[in-house]
Amino acid sequence: MSTPNNHIPTILIIGAGPGGLLLYHGIQKHLNKNVKKFYVKIFERDIGPQDRWQGYNIGLHPNGVKSLISCLSESLVSRLPEVIPNPIHENEYHGRIYCDHKGTEISRSTSLYLKSLFELATMPTYSTASIISYRNRLRDLMLEGVDIQWGKKCIGYDESDNEVWAIFQDGTRVRGDILIGCDGINSPIRKQKLPRLQLFDYGITQVLIDVAPNKKLMDRIIALNGNFLVHKTFGQDGDTTASMMRLIPIENNITENTPDDQIHYRITLIYTYYTYWDKNINVDDNNPRFNCTSFTTKKG
Ligand SMILES: Cc1cc2nc3c(=O)[nH]c(=O)nc-3n(C[C@H](O)[C@H](O)[C@H](O)COP(=O)(O)OP(=O)(O)OC[C@H]3O[C@@H](n4cnc5c(N)ncnc54)[C@H](O)[C@@H]3O)c2cc1C
Repeated sequence: MSTPNNHIPTILIIGAGPGGLLLYHGIQKHLNKNVKKFYVKIFERDIGPQDRWQGYNIGLHPNGVKSLISCLSESLVSRLPEVIPNPIHENEYHGRIYCDHKGTEISRSTSLYLKSLFELATMPTYSTASIISYRNRLRDLMLEGVDIQWGKKCIGYDESDNEVWAIFQDGTRVRGDILIGCDGINSPIRKQKLPRLQLFDYGITQVLIDVAPNKKLMDRIIALNGNFLVHKTFGQDGDTTASMMRLIPIENNITENTPDDQIHYRITLIYTYYTYWDKNINVDDNNPRFNCTSFTTKKG
C-alpha cells in the first residue's frame, strides 16, 4: 500500500508528562511551522490535569532550560518565570557540598545566585547549576494550548508497513503514521517494541523522606549547615546520606505579609545503601526499633 504525496502524517504521542508535552510543543514549533505539516494527537491515561498530585518541585538544569526555550512557543517561554517563585528567595544559591564520613569537606560546586532561570540557558551543559521550579506550575504551563485526550490508557499497538494503531484500555483504537511512547518508566509501548529491554536493578536502595520545616527553623538549619541545595556525606561502606533543601516555599500563595511560621520549605533526606544490607535488618512491625546485625558486612 503506498501513501499519496499530499498525505499529512499523524503522530500519536502516548503520555502527557514533561517528555510528551515538550515533544508536542517542539513538533508544533519546529516542524509544523517550518518544515513539514503533521497532525499530532496526544493521549494521557489520567482522567484530567488535576487527577494526580504532580509533586512539589522539579530541578531545572541548563539542558532542561535550553530544551524548554527551544521547544515552547515564544509566549510560553516569556511566561516561564511563573513556574519559579517570583521573586526568587535571595538565599537560593543552588550549591552542592560533598563531605566524608567525618563531615570534612571534600569538594563544593560554585554557589550561584541566579536572578532568572534564563541565566541557566547561557551556562555550559556540564554545569551542575540548577534552579528549582514548581512542578505543577511547569506542567500547567506546558498543558496550555494542547488538546489532550484524557482518560486514554494505552495498552499496546498494532503496526503494519505504513500505519500504526494505538490500542486503548477502553476498547478504542486510533490510527497514526508514527507512534511515540512518552509513557514513563513502565511504558507498555517499550515493553511491546523492545521486550528484551528490561529494567536493570543496580542493587541499590534509596530511602527518601520529606520534611517541611517553617522559615524560622530553616534559617537555623542554614546557619548550622550552610546554604546548599545538596549536602552529601559519603559513608565508609559505600553508603551515602544527603539532604536537599528547597528554599522556595511549598505554599504557592506567599505574600510579604505571610508570617514566618506559616511559610514552609521542603527538605528531602536521602539515604542510599546496598539493597543486600536489608537482609541484615530484622524489622518487627509491632516494634518500630529495628535490629541491625551488621552494616559493615559486604556479603549478601
Ligand atoms: C522522586 C523523583 C524526583 C525527581 N526529581 C527530578 C528533578 O528534580 N529534576 C528532573 O529533571 N527530573 C527529576 N526526576 C525525573 C523526572 O521526574 C522524570 O525524568 C520525568 O518525569 C520523565 O518525564 P516523562 O514525561 O518521560 O515521564 P513521566 O513523567 O513518567 O510521564 C509519563 C506520562 O505518561 C502517562 N502514562 C503512563 N502510562 C500510560 C499509558 N499506558 N497510557 C497513557 N498514558 C500513560 C503518565 O500518566 C504520565 O503523565 C525525578 C524523579 C523522581 C522519581
